[in-house]
Amino acid sequence: MPEGDTVWNTARVLHRALAGARLTGSDFRVPQLATTDLTGWTVRESASRGKHLLLRLAAPDGAHWTLHSHLRMEGAWRAYAPGERWSARPAHLIRVVLRSPGAVAVGYHLHELALVPTAEEESLVGQLGPDLLGADWDPAEAVRRLAAHPERTIGEALLDQRNLAGIGNLYKCEVLFLRGVSPWTPVGAVPDLAGTVTLAQRLLAANRGRWTQSTTGSLHRGQTSYVYGRRAQPCRRCGTAIRKEELGERVTYWCPVCQPERTRRDDAG
Ligand SMILES: [Zn+2]
Repeated sequence: MPEGDTVWNTARVLHRALAGARLTGSDFRVPQLATTDLTGWTVRESASRGKHLLLRLAAPDGAHWTLHSHLRMEGAWRAYAPGERWSARPAHLIRVVLRSPGAVAVGYHLHELALVPTAEEESLVGQLGPDLLGADWDPAEAVRRLAAHPERTIGEALLDQRNLAGIGNLYKCEVLFLRGVSPWTPVGAVPDLAGTVTLAQRLLAANRGRWTQSTTGSLHRGQTSYVYGRRAQPCRRCGTAIRKEELGERVTYWCPVCQPERTRRDDAG
């Protein structure tokens, strides 16, 4: 599932494939960019911000533009050598193809594909909270934003990219397990918000540079998570069956014993 670390990895793949290259062709398969042609444009760099991808380009007239994309649940970018078979996904999922002399980048099932002046990037990502994998990661600001809505459940607040950017459902579930906090705990009753966001940052950072996401330290299939995706399986810590229920718009996984409910602020501490 594309979370901040996957998007960070994807940005790096695109950077290695295209940075510095002059595009020899482009093929957009989305209505809003159907007539756009980036032939002759130069790729300056590829970056991520939370779960957003920003491919920064220079037009032939020197103007700086950003091709924005979002992977959501299913999206992916792949880089191929020229002439290599595109094997990652079915062709009907392709949304854009960027060709350069040394590589072909193919974007599958992308969302929010948009080409904007780089100076206006903030209109797309300016609402995001601190980026867990950004150079400007600011845990105190993330805590401040979370704490501004103390009645909200921590399970929903951690997924809100306006609070902090990069956590998806997997890291949300895993962080709360490791902190011993029920996903239904009001933010104001979470014992140590700073510790929670710091742990989330460490988990994402540990998975940079690889595609298997693990929060347990194991990369073996079936052993990469404590609770996520493990409904009815025994908790790795206490043996209790892991539970799965809807929380807000997403499902959440948790151990009812290791993550007891806290409802009152004076439970904290
Ligand atoms: Zn447990």
